[in-house]
Amino acid sequence: MDEALPKQPVFRFAPSPNGQLHLGHALSAILNFDMARQENGRFLLRIEDIDITRCTPEYEAGIVEDLGWLGLTWESPVRRQSEHFNLYREALGALIDRGLVYPSFLTRGEIKARVTAFEAEGAAWPRDPDGAPIYPGEERSLLPMGRQQMLASGKPHAWRLDMAKAVVQVMEPLTWREMGGGPQGETGMITADPARWGDIILSRSDAPSSYHLAVTLDDAEQAVTHIVRGQDLFHATSVHRLLQHLLGLPEPLYHHHRLIPGEDGRKLSKSNRDTGIAAFREAGKTPADIRAMIGL
Ligand code: GLU
Repeated sequence: MDEALPKQPVFRFAPSPNGQLHLGHALSAILNFDMARQENGRFLLRIEDIDITRCTPEYEAGIVEDLGWLGLTWESPVRRQSEHFNLYREALGALIDRGLVYPSFLTRGEIKARVTAFEAEGAAWPRDPDGAPIYPGEERSLLPMGRQQMLASGKPHAWRLDMAKAVVQVMEPLTWREMGGGPQGETGMITADPARWGDIILSRSDAPSSYHLAVTLDDAEQAVTHIVRGQDLFHATSVHRLLQHLLGLPEPLYHHHRLIPGEDGRKLSKSNRDTGIAAFREAGKTPADIRAMIGL
């Protein structure tokens, strides 16, 4: 009779320990925590530290301290992405075996140079939803021999998703249910459009997984049912829905929330110590003050 029982909702806050938590993080963390409580659900903290060059134990300790001070509690043990590289490698391997992923040897600098040369002629290079130039795509059609030789040479490379090949694997419309709202107020059933991102990177020479691959696998691994995060990740959801489809993972509900602008109207930055939760705490603010500052 297990299937008759309603599934207990699972929420998570998933910060990267590459800086201090700011008001935007506080909003995300508190919304997740409050919603979990309201829905009688579980609340998890996940440390997204795949970028081992920028993430530090000190920042992680700061996150734990700030969240505790805000009055949040979460389940143990806390999942750390750096402890699950094998999971990401295995999923990547499966996609490589299916011919959906290919090695890409162009460096960021080489890609930038191509885009700059092209735009010098006056035409605009296509951009992804974050405004970054779409990868040129030329290595997609490298012949197997050439590819083998490049791999054998040991040249550092990333692995990219062949987006055109991947999207045709999806037979039904790829959608998600949006419970919050996108940057344009999108809500309800949203049609995913992963092709806007081009051939995204799934793994880099210096990190075994990209954000997209790790977040998708971890949310499934932790049986997360409700993904509550900032609107800046609204369009990334198209990629996550595609990866869920390709890897046979369950579809969570999504709630993208408003962002907290800095005083200058720009996005809050992790490197700006003045708007960090720790700085507010040291200046004598209370958790209730923080809630008020972020409109909760
Ligand atoms: N680790 C991501 C960040 O700090 C959040 C990932 C997510 O919520 O999906 O921006």
